[in-house]
Amino acid sequence: MAVMDRTKGTRKLLYTRRAHRFERKNKCIDCRGRGVTKAYVSEYSYEPAEQCRSCRGSGTYEDYKRYGRKSMA
Ligand SMILES: [Zn+2]
Repeated sequence: MAVMDRTKGTRKLLYTRRAHRFERKNKCIDCRGRGVTKAYVSEYSYEPAEQCRSCRGSGTYEDYKRYGRKSMA
């Protein structure tokens, strides 16, 4: 569907812009350089903060790229 495709494209554009900003600062995008993810709380589940899977806890963009989403590389 055309509407869905447009939403997808906008999301990707926003993601790319954000990625460039974090790349300049050498910070992991998922945890914003902290090395841990935020605790996730919702009506049905609770996940405590844990080591970031994308950078393996280092918080650097370098490691985010190395370990992180392969599809974006
Ligand atoms: Zn991270």
